[in-house]
Formats: sequence, structure tokens, C-alpha cells
Amino acid sequence: LGSEAEIIERIWKRLPICPTRRGWLSLGPGDDAAVIGGGPRAANWVLSSDAFIQDIHFVSEVFAPEDVGYKALARATSDLAAMGAVPTFFLMNLVLPDGKTGRWLDGMLTGMARAAREFGMVIIGGDVAKAGAIAIHLTVGGSALHGRVLERSGARPEDGIYVSGRLGEAQLGLELVLRRLHKTAAWRRLVAPYLRPKIQTVLGRWLASEGSRQARRPGSAIASAAIDTSDGLSSDLSHICEASGVGARIWADRIPAVRVPDGLLRKGFNPLELALHGGEDYQLVFTVRRAMEWSFPKSRGGVALTRIGEVVDVRNFARRHTKARIELIDAVGRGWPLVAKGWDHFRAADGR
Ligand SMILES: [Mg+2]
Repeated sequence: LGSEAEIIERIWKRLPICPTRRGWLSLGPGDDAAVIGGGPRAANWVLSSDAFIQDIHFVSEVFAPEDVGYKALARATSDLAAMGAVPTFFLMNLVLPDGKTGRWLDGMLTGMARAAREFGMVIIGGDVAKAGAIAIHLTVGGSALHGRVLERSGARPEDGIYVSGRLGEAQLGLELVLRRLHKTAAWRRLVAPYLRPKIQTVLGRWLASEGSRQARRPGSAIASAAIDTSDGLSSDLSHICEASGVGARIWADRIPAVRVPDGLLRKGFNPLELALHGGEDYQLVFTVRRAMEWSFPKSRGGVALTRIGEVVDVRNFARRHTKARIELIDAVGRGWPLVAKGWDHFRAADGR
């Protein structure tokens, strides 16, 4: 067991594939490369890639192989959701150590196949290699229907700022793991959002559409800008602000923060801190033009959509808060600069 050909066969057997020359796929797996494009769904292709590496992004003691496979594809595909693209295909460069090419691989592929079916994706190519630790490098592709994508740079002053779902749930799960509390029966289920995040592909696609009643300006999308919360609200909203050249004002008591059980509140877990700075929720943060807000729904497809604040002109704003682009209004109405404290691989190494 475990020759390269055998590993590749396991992959093709377990992951969803697409018959060649069906619509968007001109040449499928098995040749030197895949060929995409053409067919009736001629569209702009949206591409992104992502690495999921053992002991950096996950530890084997906590993640079952099925969780590894599911999360690897989910976190990569979340970037397509944030663009409003329809997830379609992926390529996988899989690095495995000895001893992970049998049952572990099968479990990983089972979890990845579940995610692929949920998101409507097929694998169209990739490669395998051997090394000392597991690494899953994925390139994901989706189509932008009508060529519309949700960029980070589209936010303008007076736009409303919204988030989907609840924020801080994945960070709570991670911290339970780090503090070795994840095996406590009462709290075990709180780890699930960290191991298998639900990503917002359907919502992203809707936000990139014209909508129906909301469509006040034909041709433009429902959302003016969007990003997924991979690093944490304070970081991800800052990215929108920087790309758009604007500031943001958000209200602490409007943020849909993770529900923390009393027993964990007593241990110092803080829902607002988790929601502001916790990463890996893979929810969407997006902005909506004021003219479109009057009929904006409170939820969509069972996912809560919460207005947490509004975009402001950065020129008035920067004078008061030198570095931060986000002002957080607390429960008694005072404003505080919110500095991005989310996840950044290189921040610690750079000493920033
Ligand atoms: Mg992203």
C-alpha cells in the first residue's frame, strides 16, 4: 500500500469528479493538466489557493481525519463565498508522511468528499508527494455569474455593515482545545464550529446577485463589498476599510457574539473579545448601500444577517484615532479605536 499510483487512485475513487467535456470542463483529470472554460456557463473564473498544514493549522490529536478533509476544503472555498462566486472545482497538492497513506487518507478523503458535495465541487487535478508532515494545498475555482464579484474595495460612507451568523464560535472552540477543556462532556459540542466550520457559499452568491425587490440600481450587486471572517472581525473589517479607503463605526452591543455558557464565563471567556478578534468563523462581513437597506432581510436561508454599524468617512475619523480605522461604540455610547488583533502568521515573527 502507499505507492503514488495507489494514493492517486484512492483520491479519484473517493472524491467527486466530473465527466470530461461536460459544460465548463473541456478536459478532466488524467492528462498532464485540466482544461476549463467554454460551454454554456461561460463566466469569469474566480481562483484562490490555501494551505492547511499539520501542527500549523491543525493538530492530529484533536482533528479526526474526516475533520481535516472537511476543513481543508471549507476554508479554501470560503474565499470563493466571499467573492460571491459559485464554487465549482478544486485541485489538490497533497503531502503525506509514511503511515498516513492508508486509513488516515481514506478518512480525510471522506470528510473532503462531504464538503465537496455540500459546496457542489469536483476535483479536476493535483499531485501527491511525501514529506515529514501532512500538508494539503488546495486551489479552488468558482464562476462569477454575470461577471459580478464582491470586492473588498467597494464600501462607501453611509453603507451599512453586516455580518452573517455568530462570531467567535470557532475561537471559543480553539481556546477550549488549547486549555484542554474540549473533552468535558458539557462543552464538547462547542468545538464543532472550530473543527467543521459552516461556510456561506449560498449567501455569498446571493449577495453578488442583483436581488429582486432590493435591486434599485440594475447591474450592481446587493453587497457593495465583502470579506470572509478568517482572521477575525477586527482584522477582516480593517481589510475592507483599507481597500475601500473608508472607516467603520460599529456598536459592541449589536455584534452577534458567540453564546458562552456560564461555567466558561466564570473561567474568563469573554464573548465580545471572542467575536471581535477570534478567527476561523468563515462568516461573511459585507456592506450594503443605504438605498438598499430599507428592505434588507434579517436572515437569509436560516442564516442571521445582523447590521453592526456603518461605514464612515475616514478623513474625519483618522484625526481622532491615529492607526485604527474602526471605532467601537461601547454600551454607554463611548467610542474606542478598535485595533486589528486577529490572526497574522508573520506578525509575531516581524515583532510588529
Ligand atoms: Mg478571505
